[in-house]
Order: sequence, then structure tokens, then C-alpha cells
Amino acid sequence: MAFRARQLRQRAVGAGMLLVLSMAGLAADVTIGTVTAQTGQKATGYIEVPAGVDAGTNLPVIVINGAKPGPTLALVAGAHGTEYASSLALAQLANRVDPAQLSGTLIVLPLLNVASYLQKVVHVNPVDQKGVSGYPGKADGTQSERIVNAVYDQVVLKCDHLIDYHGGDLDENLHPYSYWTSTGKADVDKVSRDMVFAFGLKTIIIKQLGGRSLDNAALKLGKASITVEAGRAGTTEAADIGVLIDGTLNVMRYLKMLPGPAIASLQHPLWISKLTIVKSEYEGIFYPAVVPEAYVQQGMIVGYMTDYFGNKITEVAAPLTGVITLVCSVPTMKKGDNVVYIGEIGEDPSAKIGSR
Ligand SMILES: [Zn+2]
Repeated sequence: MAFRARQLRQRAVGAGMLLVLSMAGLAADVTIGTVTAQTGQKATGYIEVPAGVDAGTNLPVIVINGAKPGPTLALVAGAHGTEYASSLALAQLANRVDPAQLSGTLIVLPLLNVASYLQKVVHVNPVDQKGVSGYPGKADGTQSERIVNAVYDQVVLKCDHLIDYHGGDLDENLHPYSYWTSTGKADVDKVSRDMVFAFGLKTIIIKQLGGRSLDNAALKLGKASITVEAGRAGTTEAADIGVLIDGTLNVMRYLKMLPGPAIASLQHPLWISKLTIVKSEYEGIFYPAVVPEAYVQQGMIVGYMTDYFGNKITEVAAPLTGVITLVCSVPTMKKGDNVVYIGEIGEDPSAKIGSR
């Protein structure tokens, strides 16, 4: 149907008019990696990370160049390749967004760590055993560092706002939450706070600027950005994919990229001021005693461990009072592995940044 309409339109305008139209289209083209999307079009391809000191890789990218002007929003998932819900959410979302309805541009990267996804390796890239983080990376580094460097050049530098998607890896059980970073710049902090509110996840963890995470790389350039997490332990539940898609669409309404007002469903989120990671001191079989979102008091047992013969070797106690944000989802446990994350309840930073 669309093809026939275009043929008719081309027949209706003269050759000179067509040239002017195509030149106007070229002026607003958006190119990311091998992908060029003209105004009002969606295009797919790759950000190529050539071989260097180790193998190369290709990062899938979808560019949706809206019919109307507006901001450029980057959506990035899959730094941890088995955080499946976030990668599926972005692939499905990119399929759903109609460029004719879009104001501005969406740059969508559903999977940064392809080797982790294919080999089902948690936390790191199996090619170099490093995390796909540490922005802005290194052009002459190992594969993870080159991925990060390519994403920095092609996405972080070109966007106005960024959302980094995570979730529970194969070995992580969590309920959805988002991260908001305090940068000290009131205008940036207000917009990123509005973005976590529009996203709508009811737990918000407060970060301080200074790390080398993806959202912090954008924030250091004054680009209001957030991180969100949903999905857990290798699952792809519709509810987790749904909150990621719905949250993104609502942020896009807040940024005026989609028509209609943003829905203000989140009124009183739970603010977490600090995360403490409890690590294992032993190797053996882990049994959790808590679930994500459980409130625990200092000294409460959050899990226990046995040796491979079934004999209890330790009980793991909460070192502080707070809310469980993540629990190890598998029996595998060795010295230094994460047992639980405990969040301390904080306050809404709105008073400090003059919002609401
Ligand atoms: Zn992650």
C-alpha cells in the first residue's frame, strides 16, 4: 500500500521537484555505523568493530529517523548478553515505533555483547574476559574496550539523551528498578529525574557521577540519561518486557517524541541512597532465604550455604538494614561471588534540584 502511494506521488511531481525532495531528505539523513535512515524512515545494520588485538564483532543497530524534528534518544541494551528481557524489549520496541509518528530520532542498540549472548556467559565478554563498560573505552584496546569506544563515538556523542537497559543476568534475581545519577547540575538532574519518573519503575537507586558507566558517560557531556533494569535469571516474561517498552514509550512522550502527554503513574517511588553488595566467603551450594524487594533488618539471615555433601557451612546475615534489590538466582557460589545487594532507603532528591 505504501509503495503504491509513493509511485503515485512520484508520478504527480516533476523530475526537478523530485531532485529537490531527495536533496532535502539527504540533509536530514542520520547515519550510525553502516546504517543511514532518511527522514521518516527506519533502517537497520551494524556498528562494525573491526578486529584488532583480538577478533572483531558487529553490533546490531536500528535507526528510526522521525518524520518530524525532535531530540535524538539512544536506547542501548545487552552489555550483559544474558539480560535477555532488555534486548528483546528493544528489538520489539524498534519494530513497533512508526517513523511517521516520531518527532526526532531513535538510535536502538539491542545487543552490545554479542559473544556473551551467543555463548551464554554472564557479566563479561568471553572474548577478552572484560566487562563491556569503562567509557569512553579504547580504540586500540581489546574487544570490549573497542565496543565501548565505538558506542561512545557513534552513539553517546550523537545523542541528546540515553537510556541504558539492564536486568538480572542468568545468575541474578531482581525486580525492576531504575538508576538516577546526581550530577550536581540542576537542569540535567531535573530532566533525568523526570525521565525515571516517566519510565515508572517504582524503585529508584541514586548514583553519584564519577563512574565510567554508559549513562555516566552521557551525563558527563550534559546529556540527561538514566539506566533501567528488568528481567531476571534468563527469563523473558511478558511483564518484564512490557514495563521496559511501556516505560520507554512514556519517556518518549515526556521528551515530546511521541504525541500525547506522558502518563504520571509514579507518585511515590522508593529511593535507594546506597547499595551494599554482600559477597560470599565460601565455595559451595547457595540457598536463598529472601526475595527481591524484601525488607531486611541487620543480622537477618538472607541465605545459607552447604558444601557439596549437604552439610551447612554458613548462614549469610544482612550486614545492615534495608531493601533487597538483587539475590543470586543459582546454587553456584564461590568466594567473592555476589550473594545479595541491599539498598539503604534514601530521600527524594527533588528538594536539592528544585523539581516538583
Ligand atoms: Zn547488566
